[in-house]
Amino acid sequence: MSRFQVKKVAVLGAGVMGAQIAAHLVNVKVPVVLFDLPAKEGPKNGIVTKAVEGLKKLKPSPLGVTDDAVLIGQANYEEHLEQLKDCDLIIEAIAERMDWKLDLYKKIAPHIAPHAIVASNTSGLSITKLSEALPEEIKPRFCGIHFFNPPRYMYLVELIATPTTQPLILDQLETFVTSTLGKGVVRAKDTPNFIANRVGIAGMLGTMKEVENFGLTFDVVDDLTGKKLGRASSGTFRTADVVGLDTMAHVIKTLQDTLSAETDPFYSSFGTPEVLKTLIEMGHLGQKTKAGFYKKVGRDVLRFDLASKEYVAGGEKSDEVYARMLKKPAGERLRLLRDSEGPQGQFLWAILRNGFHYAAVHLETIAETARDVDFAMRWGFGLKQGPFELWQEAGWSQVAQWVKEDIAAGKTLSNAPLPDWVFNGPVADAGGVHTAEGSWNPAAKQFVPRRHLPVYDRQHFPENVLGSNAPKAETSGRTLHEDDAIRLWTLDDEVLIASIKTKMHAISPDVAEGLALAVDMAEKDFKGVVIWSPDDVFSVGADLQAMLPAFMVAGVSAIEGAEQELQNAMLKLRYANVPVISAIRGLALGGGCEMAVYSSRRVVAMESYIGLVEVGVGLVPGAGGLAYIARRAAENAATSMNKDILPFLTEGFTAAAMAKVGTSALESRKLGYVLDSDIIVPNKDELLFVALNEAKAMFDGGYRPPLRRAFTVAGRNGVATIKGQLVNMRDGGFISEHDFHIASLIAGVVCGGDIDAGTPVTEEYLMALERQAFCSLLTHPKTQERIMGMMSTGKPVRN
Ligand code: NAD
Repeated sequence: MSRFQVKKVAVLGAGVMGAQIAAHLVNVKVPVVLFDLPAKEGPKNGIVTKAVEGLKKLKPSPLGVTDDAVLIGQANYEEHLEQLKDCDLIIEAIAERMDWKLDLYKKIAPHIAPHAIVASNTSGLSITKLSEALPEEIKPRFCGIHFFNPPRYMYLVELIATPTTQPLILDQLETFVTSTLGKGVVRAKDTPNFIANRVGIAGMLGTMKEVENFGLTFDVVDDLTGKKLGRASSGTFRTADVVGLDTMAHVIKTLQDTLSAETDPFYSSFGTPEVLKTLIEMGHLGQKTKAGFYKKVGRDVLRFDLASKEYVAGGEKSDEVYARMLKKPAGERLRLLRDSEGPQGQFLWAILRNGFHYAAVHLETIAETARDVDFAMRWGFGLKQGPFELWQEAGWSQVAQWVKEDIAAGKTLSNAPLPDWVFNGPVADAGGVHTAEGSWNPAAKQFVPRRHLPVYDRQHFPENVLGSNAPKAETSGRTLHEDDAIRLWTLDDEVLIASIKTKMHAISPDVAEGLALAVDMAEKDFKGVVIWSPDDVFSVGADLQAMLPAFMVAGVSAIEGAEQELQNAMLKLRYANVPVISAIRGLALGGGCEMAVYSSRRVVAMESYIGLVEVGVGLVPGAGGLAYIARRAAENAATSMNKDILPFLTEGFTAAAMAKVGTSALESRKLGYVLDSDIIVPNKDELLFVALNEAKAMFDGGYRPPLRRAFTVAGRNGVATIKGQLVNMRDGGFISEHDFHIASLIAGVVCGGDIDAGTPVTEEYLMALERQAFCSLLTHPKTQERIMGMMSTGKPVRN
């Protein structure tokens, strides 16, 4: 396959989706121009300009760094169509109207480059019908590209071919979407609403129907259908409020308009629920109108009552017994629910059964394999497990039998029988749709493996479905050392991988020891160390709980010793004779952040949250974080004409004193925790591959650790200046007395304490100051209050 290069993308339509897709392209460094209609009044780019401005205010932020909004090119169809000729990919995301889309395609066709891929983000229209309006030469390069909202955060992208789409085009697009955009691609057939929305919305409507059948209230249903069921914590109705009830109604309407009783035997359950109609008529559209299924009044969350059309007291929880049932192994769980007498248990069985029924009946028409349905539901609807995975885990034949009995008893939403392949042949023999060989493709009547594209060689441990027997990172490779705290292992005998095993990968003394061992081993036999874990937390920092017993017995001195060991471990990473790479994804907080900045290089997933957050528990960074801030300021000052360190210190000081966390890899770079020389990786599953390669490349490039050298600090004048500003903040009521105290201690350390400005100091000297500040705070009652609060409630105490 020749390499498909995307030098520039055009996004057509600056609405909810188009503007956010453009933002995500900027996040991953792809030049983009965003088009919309010419404004009727004022500057012609008015609509796009407004949309780009809107991106800066949107939460959660579609941009990694808000200022990058300026990088989105702005254009309109009246003045700038010629810009399309430079675009290798054109993503159409205008309003959901076939006639409008076709008109636009006619308008842009003469300007499209002869090699460019054109793709529509439609969620409901037929891709094949859309393609029919295109000139013959564009048809082979046209397909569907269905992003989910919000596109930066939602992992799923569905790609949809038409009968005329060239297969190569789809492979090229899949490669780009996977590696450059960092998404999980599922290929869907060209059927209404594709896979995730078809199964997901049918599921939601089915749930609403069963809610009526069993007479449950929204709050109980949300309690049952959230985290406890392995789904998004907002459950069913709160999710609808967040999405917007008008949007929900629109999606339901698409289902009603594009399907019929002939094409979908569950059609009769697609009616708009009475309560949804009523709420919309009343103008209650969910979160955006501050009332929907729920309404917040003061501290209370009220729920809508259809009978009285009033909001009544809410917050009711489900019966404890079902929470216990939901924790049981899958087979037992489903049996208990099915056999339960109470409406809540019956309801849970009913919605799960409806899900199995719907997925099995439709598999052949909407997807190529059962794997695609499970992935689509996990990545598009936040389910922990797709319907087929759960069914298979619970015992294929038994569950199939139960569904069959329910169909016969008239309990299901449709009387459509389960397909024959459920009961006879390879699936029944294998006990499910997912096997080591592949997943069930009912059209081909065989298990088919994942599509192999070279881009997937970049994923060492990709997400996989239950039953696929894919190798697990935890047991793969050759183990060199393993205890409860850490596993040191290798995949290729060239680079040593250190995987921290503690809860949230907190850094206990044993972890620190393990990291030191990793360096010793790698210096002897490997090209480098990669610190990486197979889940989405890098490390939440020092393990306060593990330090508690020592503190109780021996007081602060025990902690000081533990701190020093932690600092030594960090220095060991920095001065190792082989490169140490932190492969970061998710949270890297406190000690986790320190581990990252003391590594030789960072390979960082776009969705990473990095920061020194110790102030939140009334402490200061104590494992080298402040020494790092001081050193970086000195290094930056040394490369500038201005030799005054203080201006270079401000950013790092503020980040630590305010416990700022970068909410993307890009923002963490602004805070100084990720450097320009580090690598940002859009796809989380490529992190290990890139980090291992980076370690090898650095070693092969003749890596030497930095020389230990003294650097200058801002000294007592610096402390005085910073403290002057802190006084204003305290007196203005912006920070508490204790915040002031902690921030002053931080200023003391990063400026090198009570010495002259420009005095050279060592990292060890600053680390000693760090320990002093840290230990003095440990015995402070207000800090103790913060620590206890965090440990008991997980929330910061403001005092
Ligand atoms: P939107 O209403 O927010 O934006 C539509 C944009 O199209 C507007 O900027 C508007 O100016 C422009 N537009 C309207 N009429 C036009 C015309 N005749 N010619 C050219 N441009 C015109 O819509 P959206 O929610 O961003 O949806 C855009 C597309 O993405 C739709 O096809 C929708 O089905 C699909 N989609 C939406 C979501 C979602 O959650 N909103 C998710 C996935 C896919």
